[in-house]
Amino acid sequence: MNCLAFRRQLLIDPQQQDADFRAHAEVCTTCAQALQRALEIEASLYRALIQEYPERAGIDHTSESDQAADPEAMQQSSRREDPR
Ligand SMILES: [Zn+2]
Repeated sequence: MNCLAFRRQLLIDPQQQDADFRAHAEVCTTCAQALQRALEIEASLYRALIQEYPERAGIDHTSESDQAADPEAMQQSSRREDPR
């Protein structure tokens, strides 16, 4: 894998475990730094997402009975995000 192919894969999914991708990051300092930055950005986006929508990030702060008790609220919030 060359640097260009690496950067393309990095844009698609910085967390991928592809062997060629990992191998290039180990031998190429520049791409390893780019990978590190991409992972940091992903992590900060994920943290922001958890703060904004904890119930959608797979982190269950509420009990299951709470979610079952109010299915209307979830439907309304998804309707609000519909661009139409
Ligand atoms: Zn490289």
